[in-house]
Amino acid sequence: MTQTKLFERTHYCADVLTSRLGDEVIVAGWVRKRRDLGKLIFVDLYDRTGVLQVVFDPERNPELMNSAGDLKRESVLVVKGNVSERPPDARNPEMLTGNLELIATQMRVFNTSKVPPFHLIGDQEVTEELRLKFRYLDLRRPEMFRIMKIRHDTQQIVHQFYSDHGFMEIVTPHLIRSTPEGARDFLVPSRLHKGSSYALPQSPQMLKQMLMIAGVDRYFQIVKCFRDEDSRADRQPEFSQIDVEMSFTATDTLFNIHEALMQKIFHKVLNVSVECPFPRISYQEAMEHYGSDKPDVRFELKIKDITDLCMGSGFGVIDNIIEKGGIVRGVRYPGGASLSRKQIQDLESIVKVRGAGGLVALRIANDGNISGSPLVDLLTPSQRDTLKSTLNATANDLICIVAGMKSIVENSLGTLRLHIAKQLKLMTDDLAFTWVTDFPLLEYDEIEKRYQAMHHPFTAPHPEDLDLLESNPQACRAQAYDLVLNGVELGGGSVRIHDRILQNRVFQAIGMSQEDAQKRFGFFLEALEYGTPPHCGIAFGMDRLIMMLAGTDNLRDVIPFPKTLQAVCLLTAAPSPVTNEQLEVLGIKLINDQQKHCET
Ligand code: ASP
Repeated sequence: MTQTKLFERTHYCADVLTSRLGDEVIVAGWVRKRRDLGKLIFVDLYDRTGVLQVVFDPERNPELMNSAGDLKRESVLVVKGNVSERPPDARNPEMLTGNLELIATQMRVFNTSKVPPFHLIGDQEVTEELRLKFRYLDLRRPEMFRIMKIRHDTQQIVHQFYSDHGFMEIVTPHLIRSTPEGARDFLVPSRLHKGSSYALPQSPQMLKQMLMIAGVDRYFQIVKCFRDEDSRADRQPEFSQIDVEMSFTATDTLFNIHEALMQKIFHKVLNVSVECPFPRISYQEAMEHYGSDKPDVRFELKIKDITDLCMGSGFGVIDNIIEKGGIVRGVRYPGGASLSRKQIQDLESIVKVRGAGGLVALRIANDGNISGSPLVDLLTPSQRDTLKSTLNATANDLICIVAGMKSIVENSLGTLRLHIAKQLKLMTDDLAFTWVTDFPLLEYDEIEKRYQAMHHPFTAPHPEDLDLLESNPQACRAQAYDLVLNGVELGGGSVRIHDRILQNRVFQAIGMSQEDAQKRFGFFLEALEYGTPPHCGIAFGMDRLIMMLAGTDNLRDVIPFPKTLQAVCLLTAAPSPVTNEQLEVLGIKLINDQQKHCET
């Protein structure tokens, strides 16, 4: 074989394990490191499967020695050689191929690498900025490859699973009309229709519903969604959803199917079994007992309401709050009676940041006596007993009480509960899936002074609450649900409205005039009148799911080419200025101070 022919591998590095000693193989990959040991040169060559030690021995091929001596880290080459067993004292049990090496006979270097800006292996601290700028090198790291593989495997399972369950994968367009998911749209100005823009989909919500009207019956798609939101650590401007819609299906069936999907993914990717069915709790119960609509149910520590117990106790602050319509709730800190004053102050600062006026912390002594606040003396002995039993508190526990308006109490105690669990290491490796159901249909927007759809305006109200839509909108529940895993929202969906009249009532409840609705979604409202089947759906955050599977808490790690918190791609430097000519054909003129950002 001539040098120039040496091009295609016969084996991946790790696959050399399947060959026999003495076999001639060709491997291809990058140089992880090179060691010159007097006469011999050792090169760790790696590809996506692993690392293989290649030995250059002058006795076998003296001509190769010079080029081997010049090999630079991260250079890419193809090498032919014979598989050989390492001498016993040179074996490396940490390495998959640690008992073997390749005795090189031929080599072809394709591209000599510049010195990489960071080590791709080892624990050298690398800033994320540098990793993102040289993402193609970062992705060469085994950890990143592991995550990409998890993503690939998950996508294959998802495709197969839905297909097996009668779902059709249908690709919806990216250049669409604005969708009503509530965030800001990314706009794509039209050249042919100057002054008009497409919007990138925040989700294919209306499109998938129209697929149901079209009779598709079961639809799924792994789809890119775009939301122009302010930066948050757990958000990306473009992200992937597993998007699903089903006709003539009870929510129980939708739940069952997706429990089976989760079971399959976690089994195939992590080899762990997931217990079904998943527990279901209502939004109201989640907020009351866990202070969150994404309850982490791996541990108990339920928040308990003690408003009635404290009412009229004579404890000024609390009485005042209750009179104003506030509530009092508490959570138990197991063994927390021994916390120092400073530690309790730290707990208090957690609730204060969330708007609570303060924290009442009651210690329970060994003998069961409670102390820590004048509130204790204002309670009767039987009230004190009720307090302890309500909170399941026993000797040596701390009872943490917050009083205030409902949302503040829920938020503060919800956060405090998670903090206590973290301190006590109660967050196990268990997989605690939970369906949260019966979300409110609407939420009041204090800034806009009107109701907004909590999910989206096509979500059906709870059948028992239809009358509340006009009389008490805040109390109207939706047929909406989320799937939560260990306190993280994996996805959410709802039963949809399939009747134009009800759809109008919901628009009215959110203060959207007929004309406005017609202007924004006229095409969709029209479609609703042409035989819309009852349907429901759900969408899962693919990136979030991969984070859980990969065990990372950095969202950018599961997206091969992510944006920074400032929504910038450091690799390609997007977004970038465009030329005046480009803008001109779109009929766009920049206002003065933005002009300077424009390329000339
Ligand atoms: N389109 C919704 C979302 O993106 C999910 C759904 O209701 O199916 O949140």
